[in-house]
Amino acid sequence: MDRRRGARLSAVDEDVERVLIDEDVIGKRLNVIAEEILEEFGGQEFVAIVILKGALVFTADLLRRMPVPLQIETLNVASYHGGTESSGQVDILDGKLPDVKGKRVLLIDDILDTGRTLHEVGKKLREQGAEMVRSCVLLSKDKERAVEVGADYTGFLIGDEFVVGYGLDYRGRYRNLPYVGVLKDECIG
Ligand code: 5GP
Ligand code: MG
Repeated sequence: MDRRRGARLSAVDEDVERVLIDEDVIGKRLNVIAEEILEEFGGQEFVAIVILKGALVFTADLLRRMPVPLQIETLNVASYHGGTESSGQVDILDGKLPDVKGKRVLLIDDILDTGRTLHEVGKKLREQGAEMVRSCVLLSKDKERAVEVGADYTGFLIGDEFVVGYGLDYRGRYRNLPYVGVLKDECIG
């Protein structure tokens, strides 16, 4: 198997109908977002809160572009429950938020869809006394949201379709694709 960086992972690639955002394009965009975030946080310490599991890959690549003191915390949130449509309910799975009192927080998620996740988690962090909460998503779906919420930093605006790769899954798979893509119809069911 070809293990070069960027090489296709053939077994999962076969299920992909089309690549929406290529690995190189993602990397270049991350350079820009990382600069913007650093500028706003002014090089001062902050807490990056990663929404699991979808934002893992994005976060790892983004934070390695930020040579400043920071902490990484994780939050286990579920809203899809295995399908391709949001369930409309956001559950913090282990029921516990990291300690953010008086801290500056960067909330990182993979994708902004209905907006419920960012809205709910952002609200909880502010209630817990975070000094400042900024949000960052790799993708934002161009659609009307269930709740009025935007991300402070967005990688790419995409159409209203179900995507996988670069951290995003379908039934637990495809997170390791190095690009963002759309699955073939026969792979969704
Ligand atoms: P929201 O709460 O904004 O509706 O949804 C956010 C969460 O839904 C994301 O963190 C992600 O886990 C999931 N999600 C939304 N759209 C997609 C998609 O197109 N593909 C995948 N794999 N997950 C999605
Ligand atoms: Mg998620």
